[in-house]
Amino acid sequence: MSATIEQGAARSRGVVLADPPAPIAASDPSQWAPNEHINRRSSIPFILLHFLPLLAFVTGVTWRAVALCVALYVVRMIAITGGYHRYFSHRTYRLKRVPQFVLAFVGTSAAQKGPLWWAAHHRAHHKFSDTERDIHSPKRGFWWSHVGWILCDKYNKTDSDAIKDFTKYPELVWLDKHDWVAPWALGFACFFIAGWSGLIIGFFLSTVLLWHGTFTINSIAHVWGRRVYETSDTSRNNALLAVITGGEGWHNNHHRYPWSARQGFRWWQVDVTYYVLRVFAWLGVVHDLRPVPAEVRAEARRLPPGV
Ligand SMILES: [Zn+2]
Ligand SMILES: [Zn+2]
Repeated sequence: MSATIEQGAARSRGVVLADPPAPIAASDPSQWAPNEHINRRSSIPFILLHFLPLLAFVTGVTWRAVALCVALYVVRMIAITGGYHRYFSHRTYRLKRVPQFVLAFVGTSAAQKGPLWWAAHHRAHHKFSDTERDIHSPKRGFWWSHVGWILCDKYNKTDSDAIKDFTKYPELVWLDKHDWVAPWALGFACFFIAGWSGLIIGFFLSTVLLWHGTFTINSIAHVWGRRVYETSDTSRNNALLAVITGGEGWHNNHHRYPWSARQGFRWWQVDVTYYVLRVFAWLGVVHDLRPVPAEVRAEARRLPPGV
């Protein structure tokens, strides 16, 4: 089945998909996307937050705080991968309105801005993967793709046109604007549950780890790993990243077929997010998980380096 037919069929089901990527044309990276300047002043809180876990030397580390750290990493990672990514960006399954809001709220607690901001930028990444219009292509530098673009004023705003299918829900628009509510609430909750150690290790350390775990997909998953699909971008499959991110490391699979709820296309490609989605489907919360077509799975083959 050609990409066009897939997209046409999906559109007829009322699903918004990324268009095929524009051809790779840019030869001079300095010409790519002008007006990109990292805002040093507004980046300071983000940078300082990385050092907050060091306060554990003062507060000490309790087992309760460590348990919180692990639990909050896992739960919020799944909310980002299963929510922000596979639901809000790609609509790979259906949710009713209340679970949709709950998922968005838990996602915002990861302090990665709002669901509409996140999904709109991610849709642009798929639309323009590794072209001059890709916001975070590692062709423009590893650190730029990992974190630089996030600190850039130019990409601060949510592109509402790219996420019209969700801006019709006022509660999501509110959440997107007030994306600080959930992280602050969670920070206070960690303090009440496990004291200062709960705040420092349970909340701040897990949040920093979660940031960089997520960011690896924009940076490392386009640089290191194996390609099995000849996509027009640099995406790769990387098992270690799949473990760190609950299944997102199968990024070459994902770029080949972003419309599936599953990113590990083979049984051995561990995809924890998909397993969790299956459980929620069994519970009747998640509906219509979209599968990987057999012909897409059969296309996979080991490609020579450089392809
Ligand atoms: Zn990508
Ligand atoms: Zn994606």
